[in-house]
Amino acid sequence: MVEVTDIPVEGYESVKRVYDAESGLLAFISVHSTVLGPALGGMRLWNYANEDEALTDVLRLSKGMTYKAACAGLNLGGGKSVIIGDPSMKSQAFFEAMGDFVESFGGSYITAEDVNTKVEDMGIVATRTKHVVGLAGKSGNPSPKTAWGTFLGLKATLQDVYGSDSCAGKTFAIEGAGSVGSIYADYIAKEGGKIIVADIFDESAQRVAAATNGIVVSPDEIRSVECDVYAPCALGGSINDDTISNFKCKAIVGAANNQLLEERHGDDLRDLGIRYAPDYVVNAAGLINVYDEMADGGYNEERAVENMNSIRTNMHEIFAISNEEGISTATAADRFAERRIDSVLASK
Ligand code: NAD
Repeated sequence: MVEVTDIPVEGYESVKRVYDAESGLLAFISVHSTVLGPALGGMRLWNYANEDEALTDVLRLSKGMTYKAACAGLNLGGGKSVIIGDPSMKSQAFFEAMGDFVESFGGSYITAEDVNTKVEDMGIVATRTKHVVGLAGKSGNPSPKTAWGTFLGLKATLQDVYGSDSCAGKTFAIEGAGSVGSIYADYIAKEGGKIIVADIFDESAQRVAAATNGIVVSPDEIRSVECDVYAPCALGGSINDDTISNFKCKAIVGAANNQLLEERHGDDLRDLGIRYAPDYVVNAAGLINVYDEMADGGYNEERAVENMNSIRTNMHEIFAISNEEGISTATAADRFAERRIDSVLASK
């Protein structure tokens, strides 16, 4: 038996919990906003300690998606789904039940792969709903696109800080030599930037250093090395009370999600004179890419890549808002997103 329960949450359009005794599925879907369009956000599978933790996460993530899509100029709202469990629980019935749950939103929520869910899982979801993107044979692996979009955000930031967008002769501290960090480092090095890289897996860092003629430091050192730009491309929360006074950079531009441990750390960076490129603005190219699947006629890579240029122009606008209003770039990005949502609301 499948039990679906509505959970009223102020400021959210629709939040639901599902429990399917047969497959063991216990999940939440949150639609934060559909003001700009259907709420798109991935399906995360995570071993949450309890339901409260999962609910808190789905609310936070779905709201984040609203801001990310709004900043990227996409006609998309913000949504997310989280499943409580781990990859060992995966089964056909599990994702079929999840497909039915997505379908029950009637298109106001569109899902995609996320942490611990894969393209093949979405293939099963797609047997029950058409409201799923990121399927095999369509827009493909988002990481190279995310790296490119982050590089465009870097260009805007270098222009703002140094009056030139060139990486040549500047030093970049890359934390995380994974799918995005390795390609981002490549773009920078090709333009003459010097790479310092760290990863908890030394061989990943060594590989990137070899490819970019860079050097490796330990993960402990990367946040305090002398550099022009610190580039967090690993996990979130790397800008926090313990690290903030150690940064020796002029700017922070990386792909990791939720880089500021708390919102106030954005203000601290401003006080320190470090230009911060808000994570959800510069790492939006994966979303821009997958959004293109929804266009009439289907995915067109050239158009998707062209649309990523908005990251660069949006960053310039966000810097201008930050300067004019005397606020952090993180708050400026939120205002930029809210203005777009408010203007659409006002015209309705
Ligand atoms: P990934 O798992 O391929 O790479 C992350 C790398 O960071 C790994 O090599 C890992 O060993 C390393 N790492 C982990 N902890 C570290 C630490 N403390 N110090 C140094 N290195 C550490 O992930 P990815 O796909 O490259 O994504 C990187 C970040 O960008 C993540 O925060 C992700 O949420 C975000 N992001 C990715 C995409 C995308 O398209 N892949 C899109 C938007 C945001």
